[in-house]
Amino acid sequence: MKHPSTLFLPILFLTAGMFWPASRTFGRTICPTLDKETKPSTTPAGTEATVCGPDGLLQVTVHCPAGGKISYALTYNGKQILEPSPLGLRTTAGDFTGGMTLTGQEERAIDENYSIDRIKTSQVHYRANELTCSFTNGEGGEMQLTFRVSGNDVALRYTLPRQGDTGSVRVLKEETGFRFPEETTTFLCPQSDAMIGWKRTKPSYEEEYKADAPMDEPSLYGHGYTFPCLFHVGEKGWVLVSETGVDSRYCASRLENSGNLYQITFPMAEENNGNGNPEPAFALPGHTPWRTLTVGETLAPIVETTVPWDVVEPRYQSAHEYKPGRGTWSWILWQDESINYDDQVRYVDLAAAMGYEYVLIDNWWDTNIGKERMEELIRYAKSKGVNPILWYSSSGYWNDIVQGPVNRMDNAIIRKQEMAWLQRQGVKGIKVDFFGGDKQETMRLYEEILSDADDHGLMVIFHGSTILRGWERMYPNYMGSEAVLASENLIFDQHYCDNEAFNACLHPFIRNTIGCMEFGGCFLNKRLDKGNDGGSIRRTTDVFELATCVLFQNPIQNFALAPNNLEDAPQVCLDYLKQMPTTWDETRFIDGYPGRYIALARRHGDTWYVAAVNATDAPLTLKLDLPMLKAGADISLYSDGKQLQPQMETTQLQRGGTLQLTIRPQGGAVLVQQ
Ligand code: CA
Repeated sequence: MKHPSTLFLPILFLTAGMFWPASRTFGRTICPTLDKETKPSTTPAGTEATVCGPDGLLQVTVHCPAGGKISYALTYNGKQILEPSPLGLRTTAGDFTGGMTLTGQEERAIDENYSIDRIKTSQVHYRANELTCSFTNGEGGEMQLTFRVSGNDVALRYTLPRQGDTGSVRVLKEETGFRFPEETTTFLCPQSDAMIGWKRTKPSYEEEYKADAPMDEPSLYGHGYTFPCLFHVGEKGWVLVSETGVDSRYCASRLENSGNLYQITFPMAEENNGNGNPEPAFALPGHTPWRTLTVGETLAPIVETTVPWDVVEPRYQSAHEYKPGRGTWSWILWQDESINYDDQVRYVDLAAAMGYEYVLIDNWWDTNIGKERMEELIRYAKSKGVNPILWYSSSGYWNDIVQGPVNRMDNAIIRKQEMAWLQRQGVKGIKVDFFGGDKQETMRLYEEILSDADDHGLMVIFHGSTILRGWERMYPNYMGSEAVLASENLIFDQHYCDNEAFNACLHPFIRNTIGCMEFGGCFLNKRLDKGNDGGSIRRTTDVFELATCVLFQNPIQNFALAPNNLEDAPQVCLDYLKQMPTTWDETRFIDGYPGRYIALARRHGDTWYVAAVNATDAPLTLKLDLPMLKAGADISLYSDGKQLQPQMETTQLQRGGTLQLTIRPQGGAVLVQQ
């Protein structure tokens, strides 16, 4: 592709071919109505450009005085959601942060359908209006800025054509900002220092959120915040900011703020043990990842958003079929001591008893069991209908990890030999842990592991990692990322058990909205140790734990069950967990507030699951509006009994399609209707 305008021609999803003529109403907020035309419209230069979503409610206005700085603002339903916020890139091939002139704009409509088997919904109809603005920087440099605006989402990215003889760039700084109205409060997860924590493995997106914090409160470590970032713009609504489409051709970014202005920031120089450049680089023509905003008057558009997948495309087709499913893993409760042949057999048997597809064999298997006996263990598991997933360290020079296997995933030659061995054994997946940070070279490692694994028919789960950024759609064998203060912390420290309900009421609104979350939860032990008699004390009820299986979405769920649960857990819980799906055809937000409570519905096939949990310290009565459920048909209601014991009864919707429930503090409820 030689000329920048050709960049836009190969886009594959022009399925419906609907276009409208540009309606230029500079300085006003009138959105164009959709009109059927046959080609995109192009209008000459100005100082302002506007684009709205298909229903006209979400509007982006781009502003650039001749020879000035580019800014944009956002309104929803006429209300200002983002105040004028900066845009621009400073690169080694030119400075596009000032001296800019808008030289042209082009609009088109996008109408695309796609299917996907491992996110919150299985059929997506993506309709958006796309605005591409062209700019020059006064020194002959050209840049384009593309906005895609759907009903509640904005995705924006920069494209750079070749700049004369210059065919590659390093991006030194991205100015992209998000300036929120003064009434805004935040729900953010701080970025940690680099090279701290267990064996110097951070950052790994495992810090604690603050709910409803003021914008002027400093970030805990002074390094801003990791995506996704949730903002409550007072009475006007909610905004989620994140990014998607990040692959080997860019770094992962985060936000840093000064007052009410939050801006894109690249990784810290200290990440990856100080090795590697924090500044991303790519060949020209090329583009940045998408920066995304999801806007809603309620939290429903945030919880239900599909923007991380709407604007990306599969990076490769797979010759293999990958199956989501359920698994057991000994490490979560029995820890390192359980990585021996006999204990792994017990967890294989537990998976078989539950009808689960997978067993995750965690760190130290290479030395504690050894490859020869592993081959025997894998054969045993497969004879029981259970497929092993094997743990690896990402290894390399970026941390001090000693858990094995080490040094098998960071080198292409060794990695492919290892994966060939896994494929010969019939292993279906790997879990790769302890990555070095967010620099581009780590993004390249994620992509290379995925690509090589696909060549060997292996699914991949990442732990000790960054968040995913559209990866379920981009990589056909990608099956999950941790990137959350996950279930292991409940074992490590009572503090996290005391806050389990609070955190569970954040994730469906924040971390889990942008993609799968490998949390590894659902404990039925009351005490979180092997004997079920020591260690930290679980504060949540059993039904709360059952509800998290619906609230937390990951295509492979490794549940925190232990063999003793077959004897000591209530049968109603085991029966529920045996039939628990891990893939969803539809997700609908019902009610809730981040950190306080949530009620969420997900559909698998014809079966609806409605899960609700309460993180407040008082009983919570909810009148749930449930239009997705059938009136007059039976509903299985799982709830906390008088002694907080799990119970299941049959009920039906009340008049008007509602159901009233009272949920105990740190308790839950699940409704199931087939
Ligand atoms: Ca972890």
